[in-house]
Amino acid sequence: AVEIRDLHKRFGKLEVLKGIDFTVDAGQVVCVIGPSGSGKSTLLRCVNLLEQPTSGRVVVEGVDLTDPDADLDAARRRVGMVFQQFNLFPHMTVLENVMIAQRRVLKRGRAEAERIAMENLEKVGVADKRDSYPAQLSGGQQQRVAIARALAMSPALMLFDEPTSALDPELVGDVLTVMRKLAEEGMTMLVVTHEMAFARDVADRVVFMDGGVIVEDGPAEQVIGAPREERTKSFLRRVL
Ligand code: ATP
Ligand code: MG
Repeated sequence: AVEIRDLHKRFGKLEVLKGIDFTVDAGQVVCVIGPSGSGKSTLLRCVNLLEQPTSGRVVVEGVDLTDPDADLDAARRRVGMVFQQFNLFPHMTVLENVMIAQRRVLKRGRAEAERIAMENLEKVGVADKRDSYPAQLSGGQQQRVAIARALAMSPALMLFDEPTSALDPELVGDVLTVMRKLAEEGMTMLVVTHEMAFARDVADRVVFMDGGVIVEDGPAEQVIGAPREERTKSFLRRVL
């Protein structure tokens, strides 16, 4: 589970997050939607402390990451992140990409790391590409390897920042199918996405952000299907 309490983030004079509060319970999928520049990526980056919040609290699996005494590395290991750009290591094979952090960070032995890598590559449907290099894969395959790499670290929480927006349209479905399966298996997920159909079908809750605040937070059906706030309505008119 993740708890975010009165989270503020400023870059110099620019206040990007102006007091964000919400919780993702274990096993829940929460989708974050909102216009460009509203602070969605900054919010995700604060959840795993890629950005240091200016104030407020981020509690992941009971560990307050904003507490100066928190073991940040241990807490970060519990959080997997998938970005718009897949960020695979180009000089390593698919299998090596999925093994490296398991070996270096979790200190798993080679055989165990390989077994866990192959389980996760099978789960995302690219096990047959184990010996290929990233450049030999389609964008959708690369993104699924990136998901397998995050899953191989046995995270308690997965963060996704627009994981399909760099993909050709015909490749988006495969990645969404994998994410849907993860959700069904009970993974706790916080997903920034422009895929409204995915948000509506898969999310337990949808959070609409604008200008660094949460404008609306509710069941997916309600926020997307029957938004209450004018700003949510006008955003949805533009994207649906
Ligand atoms: P998009 O939908 O385009 O991805 P977003 O909602 O993810 O947008 P953010 O990337 O969180 O928006 O950016 C929110 C604001 O913070 C923007 O005005 C951006 O320019 C600013 N910002 C983000 N990162 C930094 C940074 N490292 N330094 C200064 N300003 C930043
Ligand atoms: Mg963004």
